[in-house]
Amino acid sequence: MMNKFEFDINEIGENGLHIKSEQAPDFLNDISNSLFCVENIKFNSNLFIDANIYKDQKQIVLNGSLSLKYVSPCSRCLTDVNLQINPELNLILVPNNEDVFEFENDTVVSSYSGSTIDITDYLSEMVSVSFPAKILCDQDCKGLCSDCGVDLNMDSCNCKENWISPDFAVLKNYKN
Ligand SMILES: [Zn+2]
Ligand SMILES: [Zn+2]
Repeated sequence: MMNKFEFDINEIGENGLHIKSEQAPDFLNDISNSLFCVENIKFNSNLFIDANIYKDQKQIVLNGSLSLKYVSPCSRCLTDVNLQINPELNLILVPNNEDVFEFENDTVVSSYSGSTIDITDYLSEMVSVSFPAKILCDQDCKGLCSDCGVDLNMDSCNCKENWISPDFAVLKNYKN
């Protein structure tokens, strides 16, 4: 049985081939060991792709989009945040005996051999480069108090009020 993210180049007709596919994101577990530190990320939807594929001479061009929902803790207050990545897919596949030229835009160039093309690895890579560097529940998230751990978005504490800077403490002693 064919993988859901695999297609046969013979299926690409005159008008191209439209693929719409989804799969449980289990196969992405491998990327936790690669480019990104994603141990705090929990995927909570299937990975969807919607793409158009056409032939341009010997090249195969794929354009489309990917979507995947996930949950990850806010890096300041640790509340779970629901997020979605939605990168564009722009892939050019060149027969592996041909020269691969560099492209200046976001297009990824890869090679293929035979008639079956599996884009699973490409999709994993697109997912791993699409995570934001920092996850925040809100740009203005106040985070947790570093002393008592209270969530400063929900509550307040007296830690800052009771805190006396060393300089001020000296001043206070001097006055007394
Ligand atoms: Zn937060
Ligand atoms: Zn506090």
